[in-house]
Amino acid sequence: MAKRRGLYPGTFDPLTLGHVDIIERAVKLVDELVVGVAINRDKGPLFTLEERVAMVELEMERISKASGVPIKVTPFENLLMHFAEDQKASIIIRGLRAVSDFEYEFQMVGMNQSLNDDIETVFLMADARYQSIASRLVKEIARLSGDISSFVPAHVGDALKGKLP
Ligand code: ADP
Repeated sequence: MAKRRGLYPGTFDPLTLGHVDIIERAVKLVDELVVGVAINRDKGPLFTLEERVAMVELEMERISKASGVPIKVTPFENLLMHFAEDQKASIIIRGLRAVSDFEYEFQMVGMNQSLNDDIETVFLMADARYQSIASRLVKEIARLSGDISSFVPAHVGDALKGKLP
């Protein structure tokens, strides 16, 4: 049987424990996982693409070893569906937080299904402890010198401290 390859796309600016939790769940569903790091120049990310990829890679080593699922971290700039096709992914994985993500994701899935109905989008929910974490809020809390240690891996916390004045 063909290997089931999943794609988990995001901006990861920066990677949070919410993302990590979703990835730990995603590897239970697929044989191989691609984590797609969106270049997202328009969003004006705090971390460069190289920094975001490196952050994700650092965590992936551990998850890949523990699960036995190969994980590849790849930047992308094109349309998500085209990227999924290029990567030969049959499943797109998205995380879902309470109601905030629902409307956007609902529309995205609808449009993506018309672009390619063979690729399924699967939604996962993070553990209750991580459900409210959002990269945007982590950056805001860090900027205001709040404690972000329960929201991001330690190396991401250090990187954030280094970025902010
Ligand atoms: P954010 O929305 O925090 O800026 P991304 O754009 O990098 O993060 O998100 C990538 C994917 O991960 C999206 O599907 C998003 O909904 C999901 N995600 C992010 N944080 C969480 C979380 N705390 N719980 C569940 N899913 C999440």
